[in-house]
Amino acid sequence: MPDPFERGRASCGVGFVAQLSGVPSHECVRRGVECLVNMDHRGAEGADEKTGDGAGIMLQLPDRLLRTVWDDLPALGSYGVAMCFLPADPVRRGALEGVVEEACAGRGLRSLGWRDVPVEPACLGHVARDCMPVIRRLAVAADRFDGDAEALEVARIASATGRLGAGLPAGRPFRAPHHTISAAGLIGGGTPPRPGEVTLAHRGVLFLDELCEFRRDVLEALRAPLESGEVAIARAGGRRRLPCRFMLIAASNPCPCGRGEDDPDCTCPGASVQRYQGKLSGALADRIDLLAAVAQPAAAAIGGAPGESSAAVRDRVCAARERQEARLGPGRCNAEMTPTEARECEVDPAAAALLADLYARRRLSGRAHDRALRLARTVADLEGAARIGEAQMAQAVQLRRRDRV
Ligand SMILES: [Zn+2]
Repeated sequence: MPDPFERGRASCGVGFVAQLSGVPSHECVRRGVECLVNMDHRGAEGADEKTGDGAGIMLQLPDRLLRTVWDDLPALGSYGVAMCFLPADPVRRGALEGVVEEACAGRGLRSLGWRDVPVEPACLGHVARDCMPVIRRLAVAADRFDGDAEALEVARIASATGRLGAGLPAGRPFRAPHHTISAAGLIGGGTPPRPGEVTLAHRGVLFLDELCEFRRDVLEALRAPLESGEVAIARAGGRRRLPCRFMLIAASNPCPCGRGEDDPDCTCPGASVQRYQGKLSGALADRIDLLAAVAQPAAAAIGGAPGESSAAVRDRVCAARERQEARLGPGRCNAEMTPTEARECEVDPAAAALLADLYARRRLSGRAHDRALRLARTVADLEGAARIGEAQMAQAVQLRRRDRV
């Protein structure tokens, strides 16, 4: 194979030098200059001597350099910088900058402002100087969800699966697959391999309506991803790991007819009710934080006074999430606490005794024990309490009782 630099010498064109290790290095610039010098610049013919031939090097700018002109840049990897050639006329320039900023906002990107790029026109001939644009840089940051990093993760998945469309997703993903879905459709895989619903729901909600209508093997396949927050998909040349940190919400009828065994009109045979409810295995139920039975509301309750508004509940939830982030770090919540973090939560002695008693009497698994702790911490966060008290622990335990479903 001929040396690429030898070939570069023979034709005017484009050279590309990249550091595949991902480690920034000045070596790229040195090789870029070498590439440029070895090229024959046919475009230069007829240009005035000082203007040159328009050939040059475009390179990535170091994060450290950009921070000397923008003091409010977010973390490396969560912002972008564009270089724009703009008209010299300030009115037209201002209008164009507005168009660019609007287009960025449409993709969920927040403008961090414009900066002039330093230029040295004195070294140019009149041909270049006469048509020289005003060169400015615009920095943008992703501006959706809790943090920039989360929005970028969601956008990356949407882009990889061809669903990015005209802009960034407008919010967290919400996926509600039908109960006839296959394990490959839910978890990912198949031929050719595709990401499953769990990955498409990353950082958002996976809603399984009619949970007990799903195939049992499909539901069981959820266990590992729920625990680890990622799935491995087999593909040619190895396995690929995909993220899947989602909130699972599921709803189910108590029996196939939907009325429930206590309703005199329910004619479901006992065995079929058991088979139906058995679709949610103990092992999967163990990985679900809240289990709540919803009784049919009385007629008076339906026509009665409205309950607390969703806006008020939202404010309380947001305040609780802020407390969790302040304790655990940006973008993290109680459900993501490691067993060590869960066991380090401050607990009143009475609350600790209640949990220890239940652990022994109901023979809770270690996982169920830690989930009860995380949930009690969330109940305390919703109430703005610094420590987990006995009442909060009791409520958390009640919210996890399968026999109430
Ligand atoms: Zn029934």
